[in-house]
Amino acid sequence: MRRPFIGVSPLYDAKRQSYWMLPGYMKAIEAADGIPVMLPMNADETAIHAIADKFDGFLFTGGQDVNPHLYGEEKSPLCGEICDERDALESLLFQRVIELDKPVFGICRGLQLINVMLGGTLYQDLPSERKSSVQIEHSQTPPYDRPVHRITVEAGSPLFQMLKTESLMVNSYHHQGIKQLSSLLMPIAYAEDGLIEAACMPEKTFVCAVQWHPEFCYQSDPLQFRLFTAFVNHCQK
Ligand code: MN
Repeated sequence: MRRPFIGVSPLYDAKRQSYWMLPGYMKAIEAADGIPVMLPMNADETAIHAIADKFDGFLFTGGQDVNPHLYGEEKSPLCGEICDERDALESLLFQRVIELDKPVFGICRGLQLINVMLGGTLYQDLPSERKSSVQIEHSQTPPYDRPVHRITVEAGSPLFQMLKTESLMVNSYHHQGIKQLSSLLMPIAYAEDGLIEAACMPEKTFVCAVQWHPEFCYQSDPLQFRLFTAFVNHCQK
């Protein structure tokens, strides 16, 4: 079978003014039999439409915080570094990819960006803005392949179809999170403090996103690798 080409949103290092990539995103797609290609940091609509046409699926990677202006809020002092270049690329790209109903997998910032693009909001600083009686470590220290908190998967959801379990441990390296989920998204996993840890867009063929980082643990955790194989398989259709 033809190996699908998967566009991967680029990471940006402001200090070095560099585009870069974490090997886990690329190698996980390769291991699942896809061909990953890092996309250009481009916000030209014609170019983005051409990119959306060309690739079979898209991975929206982790990274900087989404600019709160995109969900109608002022940037709080506790909001992290933002990256307008990524916001510009990814918002145009996501809109177009959704119009074409091509497969999308989002990781961490990817989940947050998708939620914001579809009208949802975020906690700009999870520890100070979200109070819960259950204390959970969402911002772990290295090594990042270490599972640190449990999630509950909605039975019968697309995530359940992939993982075949309603409960598993995941890593957690995020300082923002979903506040108001878009009405176009369905929550498919929760942390024990109630935070949404994964969501999908039921009206599309495959738009799924997770708050944790399977790219760090797909080698040691076969369940996490299934997220990539399910995504790449949808890109083959
Ligand atoms: Mn978490």
